[in-house]
Amino acid sequence: MKQYLCDYVILGAGLSGISLATQLQQTNDIVVLEKSKTPGGLVKSIHVDGFWFDAVLHLLHFHNPQVEKSLKGLLGKTFKPLIPKADVRTAFGTTKFPFQLNLGGLPKEAAIECIAQYIEKAYTQPPKIKNFEEWLLHSFGEKMCEVFFFPYNNKMWKRPLSSLGTRDFIWNIQNYNIPKVLSGLLPDETKVESYNSNSWYPVPKKGSKKRCMGLLIDKLVKPVKQQIKLGEEVVEVDTKRRQVITESSVGRSVYQYKKACISTIPLPVLQNISLPKTANKVQLKTNGVLYAMIMLKGQKYDTANLWDYFSDESIVFSRIIYMQNFDPHTAPENRWSIMAEITYKSEAKKLNLKKMEQKIKQNLLALKIVNKEKDFIKIHFEDHEYAYAVFEKNTSKAVRKISEKYLKKDVHLLGRYGKWQYLSMAQVYEEAIKKAEELNS
Ligand SMILES: Cc1cc2nc3c(=O)[nH]c(=O)nc-3n(C[C@H](O)[C@H](O)[C@H](O)COP(=O)(O)OP(=O)(O)OC[C@H]3O[C@@H](n4cnc5c(N)ncnc54)[C@H](O)[C@@H]3O)c2cc1C
Repeated sequence: MKQYLCDYVILGAGLSGISLATQLQQTNDIVVLEKSKTPGGLVKSIHVDGFWFDAVLHLLHFHNPQVEKSLKGLLGKTFKPLIPKADVRTAFGTTKFPFQLNLGGLPKEAAIECIAQYIEKAYTQPPKIKNFEEWLLHSFGEKMCEVFFFPYNNKMWKRPLSSLGTRDFIWNIQNYNIPKVLSGLLPDETKVESYNSNSWYPVPKKGSKKRCMGLLIDKLVKPVKQQIKLGEEVVEVDTKRRQVITESSVGRSVYQYKKACISTIPLPVLQNISLPKTANKVQLKTNGVLYAMIMLKGQKYDTANLWDYFSDESIVFSRIIYMQNFDPHTAPENRWSIMAEITYKSEAKKLNLKKMEQKIKQNLLALKIVNKEKDFIKIHFEDHEYAYAVFEKNTSKAVRKISEKYLKKDVHLLGRYGKWQYLSMAQVYEEAIKKAEELNS
């Protein structure tokens, strides 16, 4: 077995691991261990038969000016602002996203019932809320839940909403004040209110060698290319011996850390491969996401939206993403493409891709997003087992405890799946910078 000794060993070369590495490598001896053959984790560009896709939908949303300056600096003029426009398609009709701010798109009676109950809830003393279902009901009222929040979230989570906790994972649902919700009844095409209006996406020149969000990774990775070991799967983390064991096509290697190990790999994976073994391992659940990358010819679907939400349970996907509105050059001449997002319970049986492909095609034809069966050129699937961490009642508390235990052994948890926390790309980057400052001090 080959042996290495470093100051810091970083597990995973996704956006978190790479961002941390760029900060630590200036003054430390580091190594980043990545099981995949390419860096970037979820932030990868996928190139299939001349079509470009993101491994999952990726828009950068900025809330911190320093992070904004830093990441915009990396991508320069390639980076373009994009407003996350989307429709919400429900059994009651179609309206704009966010649903609760655009009730005017619903039939009059349903819209009025939604508003009346929303106001009523706002003036009702909140009960002790015990789960996600109750939180939705109390925050929005029965009608909004019936029209959108319940069917959409049932489809997304694939488990009873009453089994989910109330905090820490509600990253994309907001309560707004009553005047704002009321103004959503007025017709106003120019009004775009979103929880992430400062959003950006790379749009390089036509003919560019690479497209999509993977461009950001290419820029970030440059100063740490030498330190990233690709194709090295971490199979053991021994906190007593302060060593990490990897397996690659050439065999096993041992990486010892003098200062600390920083893990950005999914926390359930880390728990499984950690030594010494602990008796009371916490079972963490996740929803995976299957991305169908759909290559098309024929009439392009006419929409200005970046994506649409579908709450109807008979439709297999929860979102359709229109790649042409992110970047018009993501498809070859006279071609176009969309992505379908399908969530699944990671603990459930594997999805049957053949059946899934048929269902997606049927749904897209019925919705008239695609005109004819022969317009489908090809569907490529990308499967991500760790996509949406499931938070049950005691999950946050358990994760905090696990994190403290690891920290005592000089193993720091970082990143969306390492920390088991809902973090966007910009937040993941910010956390990595903070962690580097903490370690360097
Ligand atoms: C469906 C979806 C849509 C999203 N949309 C947006 C969006 O629009 N905007 C936004 O800002 N954010 C979005 N995000 C969040 C964003 O993708 C994440 O914040 C970010 O990619 C997390 O980076 P990470 O490095 O923490 O994790 P990851 O990207 O998961 O990186 C972890 C790395 O560890 C590696 N690894 C795992 N196990 C091992 C092992 N045993 N040994 C070695 N390596 C291992 C993996 O291969 C991977 O490279 C979205 C996420 C999802 C799931």
